[in-house]
Amino acid sequence: MATLLLTHPSFIKHDTGPGHPERPDRMRAIDKVLAHEVFRDLKREEAPLREDVREHIERVHPVAYFQKIRESAEHIDHLSHLDPDTVISPGSWEAALRAVGAGLSAVDAVVEGRAANAFCQVRPPGHHAETSVAMGFCLFSNAAIAAHYARAKHRAERVAIVDFDVHHGNGTQEIFWSDRDLFYGSTHQMPLFPGTGALGETGVGNIWNAPLRAGDGGERFREAFESRILPALHNFGPDLLVISAGFDAHQADPLGNLRLVEADYMWVTERLADMAKRHAGGRIVSMLEGGYDLTALAKSVAVHVKTLMDVGA
Ligand SMILES: [Zn+2]
Repeated sequence: MATLLLTHPSFIKHDTGPGHPERPDRMRAIDKVLAHEVFRDLKREEAPLREDVREHIERVHPVAYFQKIRESAEHIDHLSHLDPDTVISPGSWEAALRAVGAGLSAVDAVVEGRAANAFCQVRPPGHHAETSVAMGFCLFSNAAIAAHYARAKHRAERVAIVDFDVHHGNGTQEIFWSDRDLFYGSTHQMPLFPGTGALGETGVGNIWNAPLRAGDGGERFREAFESRILPALHNFGPDLLVISAGFDAHQADPLGNLRLVEADYMWVTERLADMAKRHAGGRIVSMLEGGYDLTALAKSVAVHVKTLMDVGA
């Protein structure tokens, strides 16, 4: 079965202003690498603007927050800062809705057996957005919304999000904090933005943080997965696995100080696919988070998506 790729030109219209690392060129760099013939068997669909998107966003974010983000985007004719890092522009609203929509439609496709797994090439990213706080370049919690949707729409019982972005997904953690049927596992550099993600932050036994130190590379990263994240994920036994796939732990990335290389992304994708096969019929929805060195981002996404294609074939 094919791997599904969901993306849309509107993601380029989410303007974050000059010099911002979370920039439209990230999409162009990924578009270019995924145009290679190695990826000809990808099933490609547009990240949709769904009529039910608001209903599913509001499973995670309060109505007032949804309205605040919409009004921020609609009532400006230039860039507006929600916080020093998080910028909204007239093009951001459609992009934000389609980023969420990509996750929802990816869940539909893998649960209904129309794709082996899926990668959502989206921006803005989502894992820093808390229930009522936009931060860290994130507006809506794309991955957590997809997880809640899988339960509400498809009656998934247990959904896991595994996050290998260099930053801790404080938003996902906050949203999942007290729900035993949702699992959040994260490797991330610490200390680093946003400051959360300590080992002792465990929710109701469903949060598994594995902080890494500046300078750590593939060996420590793999050890964190093998000793902590993967055993916990195995015990949890998800029936859907969502990946918060950030590629800013790459050694070339300007925002982090970890030293991962493309081979580490292949390794972690394979390990997560093994776990998804054991528990979840192979069902994986991977959603792009960070990754700010364009060359490293493009190469890492290529390795991640190719591995998803190989494990799904
Ligand atoms: Zn990040």
